[in-house]
Amino acid sequence: MLPAEIYLDFNATTPVLPQAAAAAHEAMLHTFGNPSSSHSAGLRAKALLDDTRARAARLLGAGGGRLLFTSGATEAIQTAVLSALCAVRERRLSGQRCGSLLLYGATEHKAVPESLAHWNHVLGLNLELRALPVDERGRHDLDLLRAWTADAALVCTMAANNETGTVSDLAGIEQALAGSPALWLVDGVQALGKLALNLAATRIDYAAFSGHKLYAPKGIGLLYVREHAPFTPLMAGGGQELGGRAGTENMAGIAALGAVLRTWEEGDGLHDGAQLLQFRQQLVDSLGAALPDLVFNTPLDCALPTTLNFSVAGLGSKELLDVFDAAGLRVSAGSACSAGLAAASPVLQAMGLPEWRTRSAVRLSFGPAVDASFIGAACERIAHCGAALRAASALAAAAPPDEALPEGNGSTVQLGELTLDWAALPHFLQSHPQAQLVDVREASEFLAGAMAQVSQHPVLNIPLSRLSGELARWRKQPPGPLVFFCRSGNRSAKAAQCLRRLGFEQAWHVAGGLAHAGAATPAHHAEDT
Ligand code: PLP
Repeated sequence: MLPAEIYLDFNATTPVLPQAAAAAHEAMLHTFGNPSSSHSAGLRAKALLDDTRARAARLLGAGGGRLLFTSGATEAIQTAVLSALCAVRERRLSGQRCGSLLLYGATEHKAVPESLAHWNHVLGLNLELRALPVDERGRHDLDLLRAWTADAALVCTMAANNETGTVSDLAGIEQALAGSPALWLVDGVQALGKLALNLAATRIDYAAFSGHKLYAPKGIGLLYVREHAPFTPLMAGGGQELGGRAGTENMAGIAALGAVLRTWEEGDGLHDGAQLLQFRQQLVDSLGAALPDLVFNTPLDCALPTTLNFSVAGLGSKELLDVFDAAGLRVSAGSACSAGLAAASPVLQAMGLPEWRTRSAVRLSFGPAVDASFIGAACERIAHCGAALRAASALAAAAPPDEALPEGNGSTVQLGELTLDWAALPHFLQSHPQAQLVDVREASEFLAGAMAQVSQHPVLNIPLSRLSGELARWRKQPPGPLVFFCRSGNRSAKAAQCLRRLGFEQAWHVAGGLAHAGAATPAHHAEDT
């Protein structure tokens, strides 16, 4: 059995709350009417739609403003930008003061600057896009904002940052906007359910939200439009959402979002800030004990209580992520969109952090429905990772230096010829009892994950980086069949290829790696609520 997964990447997406999944199921099976139909089935669907919208309006303090259901935050942002830019065009045509700058926080999610550039181009407005710098905490430069607002057409500032958790000073931004003709868009995605918002009490014109960042499924979001703020629909058609967003509504998503909002409104399952801060402190303490050289990339007092972003001197984010992953802890490097790349984080760069911190950041994020046992289990795993890293560095210190792998005779071996999959492995091991399973992950990863899980067969850990050292021994005393595996199948494929090139006929690797070795049972909290 693989260790149960502890999912700590809630800023990328969250599990769906069981009561939200049940509500979606119910909507698909029973409340499946089209809310635009006038018969009873339609009316029941319409009641569900209205109920979810009313709850959202209460929780967000939408007052006389509108709340539209969208497919997610990207569409909500798109609609807001289109609305604002169409209004700027009209104001410009009628000779009114409208500003010429499209300002956006330097750490905004890509959806914002990309939408600004797209609609500025499509509408042929030729307005200037300008990033508003942030300080080392990730907070907007309000002096610059004040200096620029007189000529601003639209200002876009997120309520909280997805990578660092930095909470923006929305009240300060509002003050800086005094007297400006600018419209104001707030990306509220990461604030939903974690920060109190009272939208109608502010001058915010548009606010975007996403269901899948708060225990609802992907494909449902919300756009708040302040009363009297300009509005242009992104999609025209059957007149749904009072003409604001055409297309038959995603009723399963709306039902699920409604169930999440009910849980929140009834104070029954989503923790408040004080409890979340306590959970975060437990994680901070265990990270500090496990990784003594760790530095947090955002001061904790201006970050969301559910996000930690840190770097560890001497440890790349890939290395840390691999160790965490081996221990069943799912965290991310920077934002989800750039997780595959070892590039520096543009968010941390915008904050002016030193290069090494921008390249080695790890983000750990959880949601307001987690409980004490989940946090306790996460802390235990973190301690386990710290111990594995220490043991691995002791091993490395004692081992002879690494050599490069020899090149072999240059012949290429088709990957298919040396690939096994987990389903075929038991049979292979039965027919090749002398076979040796070799885990080519780093020692820290091997030590962080309990290996007996893949098979009853004994497993040897020879990190790919140390394979050359083992070759001399294997040349003297040829091994039986060798089956390499790793986390994703990349390193093991290299190992098997290399051995075949060197003339070891009996080298295989397991495709897909441990990530595909049986379905780990997710132990995220949503299963327990
Ligand atoms: N804004 C922020 C801050 C986000 O974190 C995300 C998602 O990563 C988005 C916008 C886009 O949201 P969606 O996936 O609902 O389009």
